[in-house]
Amino acid sequence: MIKDEIAMLSVNDAEAIILNLVQPLDAQRDIEVVDLLTADNRILATPVTSSLDFPHWDNSAMDGYAVRYEDVQHASAEQPVILEIIEEIPAGYQPQSTIQPGQAARIFTGAVIPAGADTIVIQEKTRREENRVFILAAPQAQEFVRHKASFYQAGTPLLSAGIRLNAAEIAVLAVAQCPQLNVYRRPRVAIFSTGDELVTPDQPLEPGQIVDSNQYALAALVKQSGAEPLLLGIIKDEPDALQKAIAYAIANADIVISSGGVSVGDYDYVDKILESLGAKIHIRAVGMKPGKPLTVATFPTQHSCTDAINRVSIPHSSLYFGLPGNPAAVLVTFWRFVLSAIKKLSGVTDGWKPIFLKVRSRDELRSDGKRETYLWGKLHLIDGVYEFHKAGGSHSSGNLINLAQTNALAVLPIGKTLISPEEKVQVLQIGYL
Ligand code: AMP
Ligand code: MG
Repeated sequence: MIKDEIAMLSVNDAEAIILNLVQPLDAQRDIEVVDLLTADNRILATPVTSSLDFPHWDNSAMDGYAVRYEDVQHASAEQPVILEIIEEIPAGYQPQSTIQPGQAARIFTGAVIPAGADTIVIQEKTRREENRVFILAAPQAQEFVRHKASFYQAGTPLLSAGIRLNAAEIAVLAVAQCPQLNVYRRPRVAIFSTGDELVTPDQPLEPGQIVDSNQYALAALVKQSGAEPLLLGIIKDEPDALQKAIAYAIANADIVISSGGVSVGDYDYVDKILESLGAKIHIRAVGMKPGKPLTVATFPTQHSCTDAINRVSIPHSSLYFGLPGNPAAVLVTFWRFVLSAIKKLSGVTDGWKPIFLKVRSRDELRSDGKRETYLWGKLHLIDGVYEFHKAGGSHSSGNLINLAQTNALAVLPIGKTLISPEEKVQVLQIGYL
């Protein structure tokens, strides 16, 4: 069967099929232990509960004086209350005495409140004379006291499994005294390029040859997604070489991404080889531009792969993406489909779907209306509102150069041939804004 005879799937249907095929990593089997300092951007695999109350002790939220509210409740500038300072308590030290009527302790932010005191008077509302403090205004009862366990108690769930760890989560883990933690292992993603015409960037070009840029783009994209790329190089358009590469890739990776060889040409062998290896092909073509020839396949047989911690063989099945060869099509199909598949597989429970924004387009956007069309460009912040500026130059799938420095893809649905300047357009975010 050739691709022209196959009904093209809509982008939405293709996305639904792909996401449905993705099995997230296993919370018991697919984990590894990492130090807190290397946990950034990893996915937490085991929920974390606090074993301590927080704050651990009643402590002061301000620099000032720890007092008994009863003593100072009527204090004013005209009639200050004078208290004897019996102790100074910096942060990190245990108070030595109990505050009795008529007494106060000098205290600093974060320091433990001494027994007997129940309120902090900030130093701005006092005047000091040697070992006496004049309280110049009545505080509120218990003012500026951070009570033990007022933020959370021992046993409180702090972080759930399946969240991505960034600065705030890592700080919470530090406070919960988790110097090491369970995270999902990184998904392994095998990448190779197909084509007799391809050479690596360090090779001189013979007539007819081109540089394999896809492998490098995909390696960067996979790394950014938090997965681990396994680079298999350039594979010739020869059935034997392709069969070997694909068999190796599916045995050693959770996801395989190849580029090229999935179209209708005489040398496009990928689909046939996938079938000969027992793959079930779910998608052969998608109604999008660029990116029409797109193969998505799974392998019903379970392949074994090595567990990162215990070095034992574990069963897993691979999801295969045969992306088109054209460089722009590779990037666009990765951003539209592969990225969310990797994220879902990685164990993250939320936030793996592509992010679309609705913004005004500065430029005219055109399509033939036959396929869902993706045009690359940049979101510029203008008076606090994002505006899409289409990249200049060709938007042919074979062109690459004007994709550099873009951060969004404008999406023209099927049937929409024109978006006029100032009209709103749906854009897919593909990079930092
Ligand atoms: P194919 O899908 O194999 O027919 O390739 C489509 C087009 O993309 C051809 O012009 C190829 O030369 C080009 N191409 C294929 N693979 C790559 C690659 N890895 N890097 C850059 N261009 C490629
Ligand atoms: Mg090719």
